[in-house]
Amino acid sequence: MKFQKQLVILVFLDLSGHFDLMQNISEIHNLIKIISKLPGLGPKSAKRIILKLINNRQELMKPLAETLSEAYKNVTRCKNCGSLKSNNSNCDNCHSNSKKYNKICVVENIADQWTIESSSVFKGYFHILGGTMSNSNSERKEDLLLDSLIERIKKNNIEEVILATSATVEGQTTAFYIQDSLKNISIKISKLAQGLPMGGEIESLDDGTLISAFKNRRGLNSGSD
Ligand SMILES: [Zn+2]
Repeated sequence: MKFQKQLVILVFLDLSGHFDLMQNISEIHNLIKIISKLPGLGPKSAKRIILKLINNRQELMKPLAETLSEAYKNVTRCKNCGSLKSNNSNCDNCHSNSKKYNKICVVENIADQWTIESSSVFKGYFHILGGTMSNSNSERKEDLLLDSLIERIKKNNIEEVILATSATVEGQTTAFYIQDSLKNISIKISKLAQGLPMGGEIESLDDGTLISAFKNRRGLNSGSD
């Protein structure tokens, strides 16, 4: 038992020493800085990931570098619906809908779309904003693809736009901005029910909450029920 404890401490010391040495190499230091920015990862896990990559140069590091570079070159946002697509093929979101719908649901990101789709509460088109207005990654209003949203509404004879942005200040500000941008179009605009927990992001909601938020959505304008 005592021996095991000492071993654990030794391994820990060895790893810490290794990590400190790693930081002195500028390429690794830069990698740590970038990987720590990924969701759910801090500097400690970033260092573990990098150590794993370095120890598996051929099997992990090389294919990761290559696939990242391919994805960087080829994966872009569809300018029509805001979903992700490969430059080598058509946008699935735009081309997989053989059915005609009369509703369009506006979400912040593709993970929100997946959550809503898996709950089966909504049948219709999706429009992905790619963020919120005050989010530093997409603060430019044109990034929300609102011109394209208006075009899609007209082209598909959409009757209702459902704003399914998060119950955060940014999400609600964005919803208000979209509502304002659509004010000259005669269309029903609705927003998910207030039952959404404050700060609630769509992608992390359970099916029950999501279904009730959709069913009890309220109209925001005179075109509503
Ligand atoms: Zn698309």
